[in-house]
Parts: sequence; structure tokens; C-alpha cells
Amino acid sequence: MKPIVIRAGNVWDGISEKPAGPQEILITGETIAEIEKTVNIPDGAKILDLSGHTVTPGFIDCHVHLTLRPELLGSFWSYSPSYKALLGAEALRTLLMNGFTTVRDCGDMDLHGFTVRDLKLASERGIIPGPRLVCSGHMISSRGGHMNAMLSLAPDSHPWENCLADGTDEIRRVVRNEIKHGAEWVKYAASGGFSTAGDDPLQVTYTQEEMNALVAAARDFNRPVAVHVLGDEAIRRSVLAGVRSIEHGSMVSKETLGLMEKQGVYIVPTQLMATRPARMADDDACWASLNAPAHMRIKMRKYRDGLLDGAKNIATSTVKIAFGTDLGIFSYRTNGASEFHEMVTNGIAPARALRAATGVAAELLQRDDIGVLAPGRCADIVAMPGNPFREITVTEKADFVMKGGMVIKQDGIPVP
Ligand SMILES: [Zn+2]
Repeated sequence: MKPIVIRAGNVWDGISEKPAGPQEILITGETIAEIEKTVNIPDGAKILDLSGHTVTPGFIDCHVHLTLRPELLGSFWSYSPSYKALLGAEALRTLLMNGFTTVRDCGDMDLHGFTVRDLKLASERGIIPGPRLVCSGHMISSRGGHMNAMLSLAPDSHPWENCLADGTDEIRRVVRNEIKHGAEWVKYAASGGFSTAGDDPLQVTYTQEEMNALVAAARDFNRPVAVHVLGDEAIRRSVLAGVRSIEHGSMVSKETLGLMEKQGVYIVPTQLMATRPARMADDDACWASLNAPAHMRIKMRKYRDGLLDGAKNIATSTVKIAFGTDLGIFSYRTNGASEFHEMVTNGIAPARALRAATGVAAELLQRDDIGVLAPGRCADIVAMPGNPFREITVTEKADFVMKGGMVIKQDGIPVP
């Protein structure tokens, strides 16, 4: 690969309070070699002119579901694993084209196998294009809890396919089984949710003892834990158990946020899937565009005030926010970067929202090679035609994408 020099009109490194103005970035192989006002240009280097753009680290989405779509929620078992793998391949390509160079899958919805792990393998081997992928295996949930119906054993399936687990022994077995099959994180549900029928977001679906056992089993294998959780009591128990990230955390209180700040627990607020549908729930046309089940609308109306209050609490806290969308629960036709706008609408400062998808996301994922533009880091880079600190929606117009030094998209067009 020839060295590449990017001439950027404006550069933001993923951690600073604001962009640094015009800079040049020298890329050799897969990494950033230099980033300065002017760099030493090696012989034969390719020059890319992005002088009309703001250049930032590639975005990181810490919460997607590659093998899920809204239309699957109602009739989950009628879709085969191979169909879900095709959905996953499509999702990976879309994410990368929108500027997401790393994603964490937060719950494989192929219960017959480990499709997300296979997607990771296929992507790393260059068989399908996609961002760097972090796998959390299947979501572990209690009987009667979140996604109970979807995670139940199908009549023709093997016992290991069951992600429903109750009691500390069964929970430990399921955690270890996920790790055995490639889970880099362990994901569980501590409360009910909005997207499936029969559960309620304020239900707490595991005891403190069960959560402690789950986190301890993961920790023995050096696996961090992410938890689907909406109500305050379930969030509090999860924090006490020692999870690394609270997923959604939508109805969190100021007190619990204080505990999270003290313990350094991250929140991934997925507000495209919380405050956005809550605001849309009374508008028939808007709601129809979500393609969401009817029970979800009833729950969104019921908890609208709690969701909006929780978002206010998050915005006024100093908790570490990492970026996540919950894409898959809603269509990949929505550009995940619109989460930035939703966060800013909810009072999160643009710099904090942008860091959530870059420097802070990398920290959550325990990766010191991505998320920041600096010498020695992976050349995962996006560029957009404007300044996201002034106009956050420009993040939805990333027309240049580079992953590991390879140009993936230039002038808005995928590079073959
Ligand atoms: Zn999710």
C-alpha cells in the first residue's frame, strides 16, 4: 500500500474540546504515522484533498443487532439462520458506508448458532465488507423476562441454544457457553423492555445474587458485561454487581447516575430507541414509519415522562456516555449517525456526543488502537462536509470513509 496524505480542512482528534483547524495526516500501511500542520510527504505518496471537510475518527456504535430487524420481532422462528446471516452482512456494509468503522453487536438474534461470530470471521477474512466487530454473544435473560418468547427453546433445537437462565448455576453455565462460542462481552437483560410483548420495562428480572454470579462468571474469563436495563432499581443492582456498561438506562435516577460516576460505569443511552419513539408515540404517521409492534407504542406512551426525565438526568450528569443506536430493533434504512442529533436534542453537548462515538467508545471497548486520531492508532477515519460542532447532522453525511488505511468511500461513492 502506498503512503497516503490527507489534507484536511479541519481535524478533530476524538478527545479534544474542539477541532484543531487544518492539518495533514500521513498514513502508512494500516496506521496513522504523523498528524501535524504539515507532515513530511514520502516519495510516491497519494494525496487526498479533504480541504472542504472536517475529518474525525471513524465512528464507533457500541450497540447494534446485526441479525435482527423489526419485521422479525413478531415471527422470529420463521426466519432461518442463513437469512439472518444475510441480514447481518447487509447491516455491516451499511454501517461501514455510514462511517462506522467499529461496532459492538449487543445480542445475536440467531439462536440456532453463532452467526455474529461467523460474520466477524467473514469480515476479518475479507469475504464481506464491514466495520471491526466486537461480539457479545446472545443476550441472557430470565424466564418471563425481556425477549422471553424469542429466547425460548424452539421445539427442534439443542439445549445450548437456550439463552433463558434462572438461578446462579444455570446462569454460570449459559455465560460459559457464550464464552466458549466466541463472546467477547457477556450481555444480559436485568429488566423487561419495550420491543417484546409480555414484559415491562420497570420489572427487575434478576435478583442481586443472580446478577453478582453472572458478572463474577464473566470476570473469571476476563469478559466485561453489558446489561440491557431500563428501570432505576435494575440499573442500581447491575451497577452493584459490577457491569461495565449500562445499555439504554433510560429511566435512570440522579442517585444511580451518581453511583455510576463513582464506579466508572458507562452508559450507552441508545436514544434513537428511547426518546425518539417516546416523542413519536402520539403521531400516527410518524409511528407508522418505525414499523414497530403495537405493544411497544402502548409502553412508550405509558413511560414517556420517565424516558424524557431519564434523558435529562443523563445530560446533566458527568457519567461516561458511549454511543449506541440499537439498530436492528429499527431499520438500517435509518443512518445510525442520527443518534448524534437525538443526543444533542436531549441536551448532551455536541463535543460529549462526538466523544461518545470515538474516544470514549474506544475506552469502553478497552481498545487503545482506535477511536482517536494520533500516531500509532489505526487509520480509521471519516470526513464530512461541514463542522459537526456547529451542525451535528453533518455526521449523517460522511462522504469519505477509511478503515485501517483502506479507502472505503470517497466523494460519497463506495470504492470497489
Ligand atoms: Zn439492544
